[in-house]
Amino acid sequence: MTIPFIDLKAQYQALRPSIMERIERVLDHGQFIMGPEVKELEQRLADWTGAAHCVTVSSGTEALLISLMALGIGAGDEVITTPFSFIATAEIIALAGATPVFVDIEPDTCNMNPDLIEARITARTRAIMPVSLYGQPCDMDEINALAERHGLTVIEDAAQSLGSLYGDRKSGHLSRIGCTSFFPSKPLGCYGDGGALFTDDDEIARACREIRVHGQSERYVHTRIGVGGRMDTLQCAILLAKLERFDWEIGQRIAKGEYYNRLLDEAGIERVRQRQGRTSVFAQYTVMSDDRDRVIAALKEAGVPTAIHYPVPMNEQPAYRHFDEGHETPVARSLARRVFSLPMSADIDEAQQRDIVAALVRAVSDG
Ligand SMILES: *Cc1c(COP(=O)(O)O)cnc(C)c1O
Repeated sequence: MTIPFIDLKAQYQALRPSIMERIERVLDHGQFIMGPEVKELEQRLADWTGAAHCVTVSSGTEALLISLMALGIGAGDEVITTPFSFIATAEIIALAGATPVFVDIEPDTCNMNPDLIEARITARTRAIMPVSLYGQPCDMDEINALAERHGLTVIEDAAQSLGSLYGDRKSGHLSRIGCTSFFPSKPLGCYGDGGALFTDDDEIARACREIRVHGQSERYVHTRIGVGGRMDTLQCAILLAKLERFDWEIGQRIAKGEYYNRLLDEAGIERVRQRQGRTSVFAQYTVMSDDRDRVIAALKEAGVPTAIHYPVPMNEQPAYRHFDEGHETPVARSLARRVFSLPMSADIDEAQQRDIVAALVRAVSDG
C-alpha cells in the first residue's frame, strides 16, 4: 500500500480542461501582474465568504503581515496568539516589530483556549491572532467578545480553515480581519504561493490594497510603507478554475474526516475533536499517541505517510524563546510530542481510510 499524504492528482485530472483554458487566457492577454483574474477572484471570494472585501496577496504569511501593518501594529505592541501553529503566525508578529504573547491551547481541539486569554492582556496588547487549526474554527464568539471588551482587533489565521463554518458564517469572515493561504496543500490551494485577507472594514481594505503594492495610493505616490505582496494573475486564474469544484471538495473533506472519526473512535484511538455548531475542513487529520515515533515508523513501513503538525511549539523555537520568556504553555508542549497527521484529501477513498486505520491499529497494538 502506498497512499499519498495529500492527493492533488485526482483534482487536477477532474479540472484539467478548465485549468488549461484559464491559464491560456492569461498567457493570451499577458497581464501577469494585477490582471483581470485578480479582481475576478477577489469578487468571487468576497461573495462566497460574505465579506465586503477580499484582498489577494502573495502568500498566507504576507496576508498576516499586511494585516498587522494596516492596523499600525509594531514596536512596543503585543499580539496574543497560540503557541501551536505553523511558524508564520508568530513570525509576522515579530517581523512587524511587535511581541508575540502566547496563550495555551485546548487539549482536545488544539486551538487557543479562550479562558486563558484575559490573564494575558496588558496595556500594550493590540490584537488577538487565533489560528483555526487543522481546519476547525476556534472559539470565535468568546474571542471576539473579549476583544470587544478590551478594544482589541481579532485577526483570524484561517490558513487551514477556508471552507469551514462557524454557525452559518464562513471561516475567514469571523472577525475584523481573516487571513488565508492558497499554498498548494491547503484546502483551497493554487500551484504556487498565494493568500488573501477578508474584512468588512473599508479603511482596512484600502490600507491592505495599498500596502500590497509598496504603500502606493496612486502611481508613484507612496502614502505608507508597504511590501511587494501581490498575488500573480496566473495563480488567481488557477484558483478560479479550482473554485468550480471547491464546494464539492468541502463536502468530501467533511465526510472523509467524519469517517476517520468513526473508525478511530471504534478503535479507541485518540484524535482531535470537533465542537458542535461548526465544521472542520480537515486541512490535517490529526491523532495523538504517547508512542509517536514508533507508531509513525511502523506506519511508514506499512506504506502510510504521516506528518507532524507541529513538533515544537513556536514559543520553544530557538528564535522565539526570548519572547514572552517565563510563560509556560504545558498543553502545547505535551501535544507537540504526541500529535501526528494521517493522509487526507477530498479524493481519498474510504477503502484507503480503512487500510490506514487498520495499519494504525496494528502499529499501536504492537507496542
Ligand atoms: C500555511 C500557513 C500559514 C502560511 O501560509 P503561506 O501561504 O505558506 O505563507 C500561516 N498560518 C498557518 C496556520 C498555516 O497553516
